[in-house]
Amino acid sequence: GVPIALHIIFFQAVASPPSSNFLLLGPSGAGKTAFTTLLEAKSSPASNKSHTTHTSQQSTLATATLPPTVPTASNRYRSDNDPSLKEAIRNPIRYRVRDTPGHGKLRVSQGLAELRAMALSKDIKTKLRGVLFMVDTAALVDESTLRDTATYLHDVLLVLQKRAKNGSSSKRTTEIPLLVAANKQDLFTALPPGAVKEKLEAEIDRIRQSKNKGLLDAAETEVEDEEEILANDDQETFSFKLLEFETGIKVEVVGGAVKGDQEEEFGSGVRRWEEWVGMCL
Ligand code: GDP
Repeated sequence: GVPIALHIIFFQAVASPPSSNFLLLGPSGAGKTAFTTLLEAKSSPASNKSHTTHTSQQSTLATATLPPTVPTASNRYRSDNDPSLKEAIRNPIRYRVRDTPGHGKLRVSQGLAELRAMALSKDIKTKLRGVLFMVDTAALVDESTLRDTATYLHDVLLVLQKRAKNGSSSKRTTEIPLLVAANKQDLFTALPPGAVKEKLEAEIDRIRQSKNKGLLDAAETEVEDEEEILANDDQETFSFKLLEFETGIKVEVVGGAVKGDQEEEFGSGVRRWEEWVGMCL
């Protein structure tokens, strides 16, 4: 028969089930479908099947492969001639990205429902490692798009905050991080990631203030109702830093472009988002 050691190597190379889950959220038109399609294409370059766009009524689960040169949290100090790099090439790390279906308002409510289910799940198979919140950085100059996007992001962060508060304080390190994937940086009308961050923070601050005011007004009649405010301290201006300080939830805004990833024409394509994924693994 085949030596046992060989069996093990063979099994690892073939099986290695993707066990890390990521949830892809964001307003319609941000590029989520394009991104999951790209990840699938990149993880199976040999198969030349043309990808039809996903029909929008089902939640899609894409299996992606992390490029071997992308470091993970556990091997971030690896050098180029480290044997573990060879191992990573032979047996790449896989992860799963769930894209949410539906359109417009429906997409938002379904995305939030999916997030609640995954974030609160104790099942290791559906354990959520991170949330990717994709935005179209060329569309954010429009006031109503900014408002919609920030409202969605605010509600997503509130779910993560509720989860963080329900957990024990010793579990601070296991808070689910969120990446704002600032997409479409190839367009010359795109806002740079720094401006995207500022706009989202300022808009979330406004949403938070009006919510707080609403609660104060309501409190005169219903004192019982204790709704949560994002990042707790309503005195301070909202920022992602404040959120991290108050709840342990890390938010990063990183630019990229789904278009041009294969051509390496526009900056880093999706590479820096893959690096963020790597740091969650
Ligand atoms: P979804 O609604 O979030 O799934 O968005 P889609 O994936 O359907 O993308 C919406 C539109 O944006 C499509 O026409 C895509 O081709 C386009 N798109 C996606 N990513 C990029 C990008 O990085 N740059 C540019 N210029 N267009 C993009």
